[in-house]
Amino acid sequence: MIPISFEFFPPKTDEQRDSLEKALPKLKAAAPDYVSVTFGAGGSTLNYTPETIRHLRDNHSLEAAPHISCVGGSRDEIRTLLAHYRDMGCRRLVALRGDMPSGMATLGEIRYASDLVAFIRRETGDHFHVEVACYPEVHPQSDDSHADLRHFKMKVDAGADGAITQYFYNADAYFHFVDAARKAGIAVPIVPGIMPIANFTQLRRFSELCGAEIPRWLAKRLSALGDDADSIRAFVADVVGDLCRRLVEGGAPGLHFYTLNRAKATLAVIERMR
Ligand code: FAD
Repeated sequence: MIPISFEFFPPKTDEQRDSLEKALPKLKAAAPDYVSVTFGAGGSTLNYTPETIRHLRDNHSLEAAPHISCVGGSRDEIRTLLAHYRDMGCRRLVALRGDMPSGMATLGEIRYASDLVAFIRRETGDHFHVEVACYPEVHPQSDDSHADLRHFKMKVDAGADGAITQYFYNADAYFHFVDAARKAGIAVPIVPGIMPIANFTQLRRFSELCGAEIPRWLAKRLSALGDDADSIRAFVADVVGDLCRRLVEGGAPGLHFYTLNRAKATLAVIERMR
């Protein structure tokens, strides 16, 4: 069976905690290899991410991997976080630059994710399995796909063990990207990031920020379904489930689901795929 992983954001309120607690047993039943927890760039989840990691490890026996982003942070802060995660028993990290929260003036001491990976390797050797991000539809701040690929290679050359893609709905974008990466000498596994859609308005907002393309036909069908959550779920299970199947048949080494801390949409896609 294809390895899967689930991504969560760290809950900050009791309501968000309850919602994650409800989703966890259902998602665990799908037997993820590991789960990951995002990090608010600029330190907005400096305490929440480690707290959530500890909770998932101690109370749910999940292999939980923290995301670490370097934008807006200092070397000392990152060093402290790495030591903290090592003490908790974590063996896996997702290393990112992050996006500068609006209004924050300083970039931080480590500028790019490749520098962060190099820093992690200098500080902790081979202790952590390090994943990085990559972009089949090109990072939104990059107007040159060749340069973007070179920057991806720099992260791998700095010591990344694998990569997870930004989400996409066009399987060919992934296959072309993997081909280009292999030709550029990038040998690590490239796992597609999968976004099951529960809320079209929210998805449109995310996609504008992260540069993921929603195909016109998909946008039209989703907006025609309006707020009908059950119909959206059934339609998305078909479309995204088929996407996952194509990716797996085409050689994807795993699937990483952006769950948004909810179980239903993700599980509907997995069920359809399997
Ligand atoms: P980088 O690899 O540093 O690239 C950023 C940009 O700089 C790209 O345009 C790249 O081409 C360019 N670049 C890189 N190196 C150089 C260089 N040496 N010279 C010039 N240009 C360069 N964000 C969060 O805040 N928290 C999270 O937890 C989080 N998790 C994510 C998980 C996944 C799987 C993915 C795909 C994204 C995630 N993000 C997260 C979003 C991510 O932080 C943003 O996409 C961010 O804009 C770029 O991060 P990066 O690590 O890819 O940066």
